[in-house]
Amino acid sequence: MRRIVTGWRKEGKRVALVPTMGALHDGHLSLMRQARQNADHVVVSVFVNPTQFGPGEDFEQYPRTLEADLQYCRKESVSLVFAPDAAEMYGNTAHTAPQNVLTFRISKMAEHLCGPSRPGHFEGVLLVVNKLFNIVQPDVAIFGQKDIQQWFLIRQMAVELDLPVDVLMGPTIREADGLARSSRNVYLTADERKKAPMLFEALQRVRQYLERRCRSTAAEASGRAAKGTATMGVPVTSSIISEEIERLQESGFQVAYFSIVDTPDLQPADVVTPGRDYVIAIAVRLGKTRLIDNVLFSCKDS
Ligand code: AMP
Repeated sequence: MRRIVTGWRKEGKRVALVPTMGALHDGHLSLMRQARQNADHVVVSVFVNPTQFGPGEDFEQYPRTLEADLQYCRKESVSLVFAPDAAEMYGNTAHTAPQNVLTFRISKMAEHLCGPSRPGHFEGVLLVVNKLFNIVQPDVAIFGQKDIQQWFLIRQMAVELDLPVDVLMGPTIREADGLARSSRNVYLTADERKKAPMLFEALQRVRQYLERRCRSTAAEASGRAAKGTATMGVPVTSSIISEEIERLQESGFQVAYFSIVDTPDLQPADVVTPGRDYVIAIAVRLGKTRLIDNVLFSCKDS
């Protein structure tokens, strides 16, 4: 990997990395295309990373489709696929704390959303992404909005550790009915697959509600400003979220969280403030499948 990338660099070429766990789909392909627009060579890593799966999660069952993945990569003119096994990445020793010399401890950005329901997950993600950055030494790396907390954490890691890589975000690619593409969608039964678009529908309804509230509060505020008073932000009522959670629960979803958080700290927002960006994010279990999704929202007055 090093020898090849060093050769590219000597020729003055830019290198982009798209880290994946394989079972590639249109979401991954879109990241590869975005990578191609930002670099001369695209490297895709395919590695089902054991350190980011907790006990009882789906590490064993996770779909592994390397031959099909390689076909996709060939079609997308990927220069190199890096598909190590766990021994190659971590040595033959156990690869989780306390055996490691170094363990990430993540600050408040992992306190909400997926952090509490997947203890150790983001530590595992940051460990493997850090190793991949060191192995591939890319100029730019692309991650999907679908895993938005992961994106914010990786970008923050790059900033805090002065890693010489630009961390870009690719948009979430969806099925025609709105369900976000995911390697885990193959676990869904036919009945669950029919219900799954309800996630994105719920997110959109909450976003529309907040957009309306922002506009009408701005209109009220401009009236008040004319009279000499002003408001700072729009309170987020919890009833809109609880209505959506109830609707999902009635259809058989177990909701792990449904939250509005600010960016980039990912802290719960009780008030949304004009000019600031937020994430509305959800995680559920549907049968034995864990699904996540999110939409971005900025509080605008028009
Ligand atoms: P995974 O293979 O699921 O670990 O994902 C590898 C990369 O693809 C991550 O940066 C994900 O955020 C991204 N990704 C997964 N699903 C999608 C999607 N539907 N749209 C865009 N990016 C995605």
